[in-house]
Amino acid sequence: MEILRTENIVKCFGEFRALNGVSISVNKGDVTLIIGPNGSGKSTFLKTLFGLTKIYSGEIIFKDKNIAKVPPHQKARMKIAYLPQTNNVFANLTVEENLKIAGYVLDKDKVKERIEIALDVFPELKDILKRKAGTLSGGQRQFLAMGMALVRDAEVLMLDEPTAQLSPKLAEVIFEKIIEMRDEFGLTILLVEQNAKRALEISDNGYMFVSGRVAFEGTAEELLNHEKFKEYSLGI
Ligand code: ADP
Ligand code: MG
Repeated sequence: MEILRTENIVKCFGEFRALNGVSISVNKGDVTLIIGPNGSGKSTFLKTLFGLTKIYSGEIIFKDKNIAKVPPHQKARMKIAYLPQTNNVFANLTVEENLKIAGYVLDKDKVKERIEIALDVFPELKDILKRKAGTLSGGQRQFLAMGMALVRDAEVLMLDEPTAQLSPKLAEVIFEKIIEMRDEFGLTILLVEQNAKRALEISDNGYMFVSGRVAFEGTAEELLNHEKFKEYSLGI
């Protein structure tokens, strides 16, 4: 069942069209992958979906409502979460404070319950609750950011290159956590990844962006066997 879709999103920076009519459809409980070369508009697309930057035209339909003009804080209340590539935690706060803040819209009992859930999925955080988030390693910080989305009880989670700059081993752990969040909690995940082949293996569907357009799309299996995808994945 479709939970989120975009229709012909156009985003301009001055004369330059960073997104040139992007239409995608995201099914509830799926991992939907966006891949594509540097500068193809992947990050811009997630930012426009979350409302961090205005679109020129197009529609963003979430649960049958056009949310193109809804600001980020309201989208957060609609249980849409967005994790940017960097600066996705409060560096000056401890891990525990970050988790608590993530649940600010929920009542206290609920926050406690959600933090327990987050710590079940990310037990790695249990021993570092009193550490300042700014002192964490890249992997720990990513665990925290994803844990915060779980505290928030997000329904749709948009992740911008969560494995960037992590070792292959840690990247694999992140992929496993994404699978767990989908399979155990039914989260809908929109994932932007450089590691296209491995990411496709854990995804249900995928879109390949080139120059602000969807160059091709399909099920994970279709993309893995697509000639253009093979060419692309050899090139990175
Ligand atoms: P990707 O995430 O796929 O690498 P981006 O979405 O970051 O690509 O960028 C898409 C294009 O938009 C790039 O050409 C980039 O230089 C341009 N761009 C992104 N953000 C801005 C901005 N704030 N101002 C001007 N151009 C931008
Ligand atoms: Mg990017």
